[in-house]
Amino acid sequence: MNDTGFRIEHRYLELPDSFYTRVQPKPLTNARMVTFNHELARQMGFHVSSEEEWTGVGAGTELLEGMDPVAMKYTGHQFGMYNPELGDGRGLLLWETVGPDGRRWDWHLKGAGTTPYSRFGDGRAVLRSTIREYLCSEAMHFLGIPTTRALFMVSARDPIRRETIETAAALMRVAESHIRFGHFEFAAHHEGPEAVKTLIEHVIALHFPHLIDLPEDERHTRWFEEVVERTARLIADWQAVGFCHGVMNSDNMSIIGDTFDYGPYAFLDDFDAGYICNHTDQEGRYAYNRQPQVGFVNCQYLANALLPVMNEDSVRRGLRRYEVIYNERFLQNMRDKLGLAEPDDSDLSLIMDTFSMLHEHHVDYTRFFRGLSNLYDKGHDPVRDLLVDRSVADEWLERYEQRLQKETRAHDEREYAMRKVNPKYILRNYLAQQVIQEAQNGDYQPMEELLEVLRKPFDEQPEFEKYAALPPDWGKHLNISCSS
Ligand code: AMP
Ligand code: MG
Ligand code: MG
Repeated sequence: MNDTGFRIEHRYLELPDSFYTRVQPKPLTNARMVTFNHELARQMGFHVSSEEEWTGVGAGTELLEGMDPVAMKYTGHQFGMYNPELGDGRGLLLWETVGPDGRRWDWHLKGAGTTPYSRFGDGRAVLRSTIREYLCSEAMHFLGIPTTRALFMVSARDPIRRETIETAAALMRVAESHIRFGHFEFAAHHEGPEAVKTLIEHVIALHFPHLIDLPEDERHTRWFEEVVERTARLIADWQAVGFCHGVMNSDNMSIIGDTFDYGPYAFLDDFDAGYICNHTDQEGRYAYNRQPQVGFVNCQYLANALLPVMNEDSVRRGLRRYEVIYNERFLQNMRDKLGLAEPDDSDLSLIMDTFSMLHEHHVDYTRFFRGLSNLYDKGHDPVRDLLVDRSVADEWLERYEQRLQKETRAHDEREYAMRKVNPKYILRNYLAQQVIQEAQNGDYQPMEELLEVLRKPFDEQPEFEKYAALPPDWGKHLNISCSS
């Protein structure tokens, strides 16, 4: 298994040892490999002849030479409250590798047992939530949205107590970095300015190498700006695709701007601006339409952690980038979704009115934009039929067609481009729910099939038309457990 094309470079261990605790994975019993991401393995620089060779690593019964597992220490704001007790409570960073293309990968085994930061938790992940993370991180990647990835998952026999008794699983989550905003909050609140500076330099050296040679002040200023900008762009991308994260605590914010930690997330079915996917979030702090603001608040938490080592003006300047970049990216995303290549002053009001219409008439978000991407071929009906009140649809379509008059691209060219940004297939909650049920009964084939579909979200896949259907009534308002 180790005729690999990657190098091992466990650079996290260079940080002061307060940033981690060495922990051995706790073995799972009778583990089996559920699914393995061969394409990703190739990208990371290794070839897998037999998936089973990795079962032991996933189960925590085997470590490869060079693996040196640590639980990372971080803190963070959860639902607006600072929690100093956080850290990897059930995941371990095994090692870091660098592929032949120079890309870095953290290998993080989620569900590996308790650590000093487990608090009341059992250190485990259940099959249900592991499948949800696997599916969604793949879906997001193929939608073109930055995200952690899933390399493989194993399931096991061990009973795990949640609302009911479930079974254990573990996920090998990989990402260029597992460092979170919360790492900086830990450094600032508990370790002092030197630790903050060390962490900044570590992150710049590994993940922002183009900044390394700048003088210190400028290096830090530019770096923070880039973190803020990446965060703003990420959330504009979530909004455009209708993704609701559900637990936007600052310990779930990646310092490199990846979508990070898939819990009770959801993609919108019917558009609902105030949609709350996390049913324990009773106040709707992390509702869909609050995500852009919450992204900013998280950047403010990060900014506060940087103040001991950066000057206040630079930090403020960095924070100001959020709104600018968010608005720019969101407007561009929506223009692309509507197929508007020639900027027009009326676009913003068209976009706002479109959202109002979608909200008021509970229009399926994904099918609406996909329908607009096929007006030329398929006519108005696929869009009209999404509204109970057809006259509202007709009025909107007339306005839209008028706006299209100002476009210079040919119809088919425009719609071709629109089909590259308006997915046909998204991970609807009920689809995830269905394959989880099958998996819990021992059949992983439906999950594999769904994964295949989600890897080509923008393509027509006639044999898989059912995955693009409107959700059945039972599937519309599932209460997804956020225990995981
Ligand atoms: P989350 O809400 O998923 O971001 O998790 C918040 C914190 O709880 C993190 O520090 C996790 O490592 C920890 N945690 C979540 N589930 C468990 C568990 N079953 N056992 C131990 N720690 C956990
Ligand atoms: Mg988390
Ligand atoms: Mg989580």
